[in-house]
Amino acid sequence: MKETEYGRLRQAMVEQQIKGRGICNPDILDAFLNVRRHIFIPAELRDRAYEDHPLPIGFNQTISQPYIVGYMVNALEPDKNMRILEIGTGSGYQTAVISLLFKKVFSVEINAELAHRAKKILNEERYCNIKIKQGDGFKGWKEFAPFDRIIVSCAPGNIPATLSDQLADGGKMIIPAGEKHDQKLYLVEKKDGIISQAERLHVAFVPMLHKD
Ligand code: SAH
Repeated sequence: MKETEYGRLRQAMVEQQIKGRGICNPDILDAFLNVRRHIFIPAELRDRAYEDHPLPIGFNQTISQPYIVGYMVNALEPDKNMRILEIGTGSGYQTAVISLLFKKVFSVEINAELAHRAKKILNEERYCNIKIKQGDGFKGWKEFAPFDRIIVSCAPGNIPATLSDQLADGGKMIIPAGEKHDQKLYLVEKKDGIISQAERLHVAFVPMLHKD
C-alpha cells in the first residue's frame, strides 16, 4: 500500500473511530492524524493498521485499539507543559501519540526486545521528547517522579500504590485494573495528597506482568 493510501485510511480512522465517538479536542485529533500507525505494526499486518481493534505485535502482546488510546489520552486532559509516565511501551504507537501532546514522555516496557524495537522506530520517525527504559512498570520510574500524568497500557490486579505515589499533586492517572475477564479502566486523581478513583469503561488489556 502507498503512503497516500495509508494517509487516507488514517483520516477515516480519525473521523469514524475517534471523532465519531465523541473525542473532539483538536490537538488530540491532530496527533492521531500525524502518527503513522502502520509503521509500528509488523509488516505482514500493516495493511490492517487502521482497523477498529487491537492487533498482535509479537510476544503475546497487542497494539491497543485506536479508540482506547484516544479515550485514555482524552481522559488525561493533555497539556504541553506536562510530563507523563507511560507503563507498557509495546509497539511505541501510543508513546508517539502522547509525545505530541505532552512536554516529555517517560516510558517503561518490561520486554527488552519490544523496548528496543519501539526506541528504534520512534527515533527513525524523529520523535525526540521520549525516554524509554526496559524495566518493571510496577516500580514506575522513581528517578523522574513525580509525574503530572500516568498512562498504563497493561492491567494489574489492583492499582499499584507505587504508581499513585509517583503522581504529582493535581495529577491524574488512567489505568486498567482487575482480573482477565473483569477489567475496568480507572481515572485516579491526587488532590492535596488525597487519592480518589473513578471507574470508567469495561476493557480488555493484556496483564501487567510481575518480573520473576
Ligand atoms: N500502548 C501499547 C500497548 C502494548 S501492550 C501499544 O499500543 O503498543 C502492553 C505492554 O505492556 C506490552 O508490551 C507488555 O510487554 C508490557 N508490560 C506488561 N507488564 C509490564 C510491566 N510490569 N512493566 C512494564 N511493561 C509491562
